[in-house]
Amino acid sequence: MRRPFNTIGFRLTLWGTGVTLLVCVLLFAILYAGLFYCLRGQIDGFLEGEAHELTATLEEHGYDLRAAQQAIRLELGSRSNRDLNFRLLAPDGRVLLSSDASTAVGSHVNVPAHITEQAVRPHYRTVPRPGEPYPERTCNLPVQRPDGTFVIAQSAYLLDRMTTSLALFRRMGVAALIFIGLFALVGARILANRSLRPIGLMTATAQQIGLRVQGSGFRVQERLPRSNVGDELDRLAETLNSMLDRIERHVNQLQRFTADASHELRSPLAALRGSAEVALTRHRSADELRRVIEESIEHYDRLSRIAEDLLLLARADAGDNILRRERLRLDQAVADVVDLYAPLASERDIKISFDEPREIWVDADGAHLRRLIGNLLDNAIKYSEPGAAVSVALSYADGLVGITVSDTGIGIASEDALHVFDRFYRVDRARTPQRIGDSAQARRAGGAGLGLSICRAIAEAHGGRIELSSALGQGTTVRLFMPAAERPEPAASMPVHV
Ligand code: ADP
Repeated sequence: MRRPFNTIGFRLTLWGTGVTLLVCVLLFAILYAGLFYCLRGQIDGFLEGEAHELTATLEEHGYDLRAAQQAIRLELGSRSNRDLNFRLLAPDGRVLLSSDASTAVGSHVNVPAHITEQAVRPHYRTVPRPGEPYPERTCNLPVQRPDGTFVIAQSAYLLDRMTTSLALFRRMGVAALIFIGLFALVGARILANRSLRPIGLMTATAQQIGLRVQGSGFRVQERLPRSNVGDELDRLAETLNSMLDRIERHVNQLQRFTADASHELRSPLAALRGSAEVALTRHRSADELRRVIEESIEHYDRLSRIAEDLLLLARADAGDNILRRERLRLDQAVADVVDLYAPLASERDIKISFDEPREIWVDADGAHLRRLIGNLLDNAIKYSEPGAAVSVALSYADGLVGITVSDTGIGIASEDALHVFDRFYRVDRARTPQRIGDSAQARRAGGAGLGLSICRAIAEAHGGRIELSSALGQGTTVRLFMPAAERPEPAASMPVHV
């Protein structure tokens, strides 16, 4: 079941809104702090100026407190601003002079304890006014009188306008944040939807993708839509599409493989059943029955060869270790296989030669290696006309040994050469037996098309590779490369399998 809160779109929207709001809150906090310190700085400057004016008035009146108070009250009375007040305080807190009634601004503020004679800089304080919504700000300036005594000139200012302005700013900020939050929420949702739309399309298409039989193979229906803008989602669609291409190829290979395998198994089974039925139709002599049994054994051999080959290929595909490695002399192993095939070659009037340069060691599975070389020689002899030549050569370079088997036989057309390593691929199924001649040889020669696939599986299991080059009517060359091994120490009694 789809849960709307468990979607990337929902998370993207939350993140987008959250980050936008966080940035706005930070910005607002910075602006608020800036405004606060700017306003307070202005008020402090104003209060210091007023405190200096108070001392100037005192000086003007020769420090006569009564006269100075008179002058100050006169001065303040002419001002419309009643939220400013002055006092002159003794260090013990006694009020020596006050510009207004005892309830006026600053009247309840005591002398800060740390203001001393030595203090030169004004001292500021923000103090709440009892019973009132706005605090007040005071500036205490130490003043030295001519008689050497020390008094404090205090100016006080009610922070009503500043407090109201800041409160207004805060309210506007909160309103703006709510508005921005909603805007960010809608914007982030739209952005997330737009960015995720291709994924939605891909998901919908992926749900519809299925397999459909077309001709001799399967087709993976449809491909994921691409925007062709080259962004991440476009690349993802491209990657998934090429994966679908590969899946389609593999499915087709698998289907071909199954069809070919059943076809290959069906022919000998049908032949077995046919000969058994013929044998049963009437009374047969012992010789006739012997012939039927001999033929059946050939078919059994063919069946078990195919089954073994398929098993080997399946194990190699599954990544099983199909090898039992040992250190062995490659030159001797090749010489042995060449000797084994020499009678067959001479029977078909084919000259076989092996150039044996020097001893070469490999870490290999002797049985599999001999099978590989045997397959190559078998093909070279099978697909050559009488009078042709087959040559085998060994080489060594850069830690790799090479085995080359070339023939001057019938060759392979270039379009077929691309597929000869495919399982069950045979160039021209009709061609081989006819060329080879009598029916027993034809059955032996007509391989299942697994020989070269087996060769490649064995070569790759040894960490090597196999290549084929051929020209129609001129001959074929197959090269196998695999890692060479060190010659074993004479003391070590390594078994030499040849
Ligand atoms: P098969 O068991 O049929 O020989 P392979 O896998 O060994 O199967 O070979 C696949 C096909 O490649 C063969 O059917 C044959 O047509 C072609 N081929 C292999 N080796 C040679 C060669 N030396 N000369 C010509 N054709 C060859």
